[in-house]
Amino acid sequence: MNIHEYQAKELFQKFGVATSPGKVARTPEEAEAIARELGEKDIVVKAQIHAGGRGKGTFKNGFKGGVHLVKSAAEAKEVAGKMLGQTLVTHQTGPEGKVVNQVLVGKSVDIAKEYYFAILLDRGTSAPVVIASTEGGVEIEAVAEKTPEKILREPVHPLLGLQPFQARELATQLGLGGALLRPASELFLALYRLFAACDCSIVEINPLVLTPDKQVLALDAKFNFDDNALYRHKEIVALRDITEEDPREVEASKSGLNYIGLDGDIACLVNGAGLAMATMDIIQYAGGRPANFLDVGGGASKEQVTAAFKIILADPQVRGILVNIFGGIMDCNVIATGIVAAARETELKIPLVVRLEGNNVAAGKKTLAESGLALTAADDLDDAARKVVAAIGAAAA
Ligand code: GDP
Ligand code: MG
Repeated sequence: MNIHEYQAKELFQKFGVATSPGKVARTPEEAEAIARELGEKDIVVKAQIHAGGRGKGTFKNGFKGGVHLVKSAAEAKEVAGKMLGQTLVTHQTGPEGKVVNQVLVGKSVDIAKEYYFAILLDRGTSAPVVIASTEGGVEIEAVAEKTPEKILREPVHPLLGLQPFQARELATQLGLGGALLRPASELFLALYRLFAACDCSIVEINPLVLTPDKQVLALDAKFNFDDNALYRHKEIVALRDITEEDPREVEASKSGLNYIGLDGDIACLVNGAGLAMATMDIIQYAGGRPANFLDVGGGASKEQVTAAFKIILADPQVRGILVNIFGGIMDCNVIATGIVAAARETELKIPLVVRLEGNNVAAGKKTLAESGLALTAADDLDDAARKVVAAIGAAAA
């Protein structure tokens, strides 16, 4: 789960991370009032979307830039008016862009130098790692590509956490020594406390800035939280903005399903994450393109299977369905009953290929056979993938 920058700023306050003041506005008038509160002169108006690259982005209405420095409350109102309700396209949003429903109106700070600072999980070491660079700002991707030696990596022991000596070493390597050593390393430690306490998978500050009057501040924030830990963070779940998420995924999460939307046209319903990954690979291998990842889990109920099937069928890009179940704990008949219920309710009209194997498979096959549904049975995964690819080809012809 992601949150907006203005929400991240509230977490900064809670964890003692130094940042600049600012508030969220949902109308141009609110933006004007906040700018006035902040003293009018140096104000920054920032589009709030769950994607980076806003500074260099462009609105579909032609307005350039999702981050603007303005000099008066009237100008803040005008800029907010050009952003609110409009679609911002950045290199992270894809060509469809994201609608801006709110803007952050903040006190603009003068920048002497921009740094990059992030904490994330390193899959290689299965532990957190701090990534930092003196070359922060809007060109960080180019830095990583062209001059990777300018990127520092500091591994963190997951039980001990970021140690004060590591924070000081990072600050020194970034050139934030002397009088800046204490504020910089304290900011790094505060960010690590936030990362660990909130079960984040990414905390990215780009830019972290040094001001001409020698303050070190976090100016931007991209947070990502581990979905599997959200159950113990009600206050973070409350920050969720479902208008920023794939509606198919929002629906799936209501039913406790592990679903990720993709852009192909063959939907799959599988039990077990590994088998789901393999199923997507084999669909691809057979010449098709998966429309989603969906793991209904080992202990799915008939209601969950029905919900999963409805989510698949509500997706207009889906032209065929592959159900691949290897019942270990999962009872094949539960799956079969769920499929039949959902197919009846939604008047299934697209090809459905089912491969059922394992626990209570005979009862499952019987349920499907007696349902009168027009489905294709498959013997194994290979066979299933080939059949579904052929079926959508035939349906299109
Ligand atoms: P992003 O483009 O989505 O990463 O948004 P950022 O919040 O990082 O803003 C983009 C760029 O705008 C930053 O790298 C800064 O150079 C600049 N910027 C953002 N906030 C301020 C501010 O308060 N003062 C000044 N002078 N520049 C800012
Ligand atoms: Mg940024």
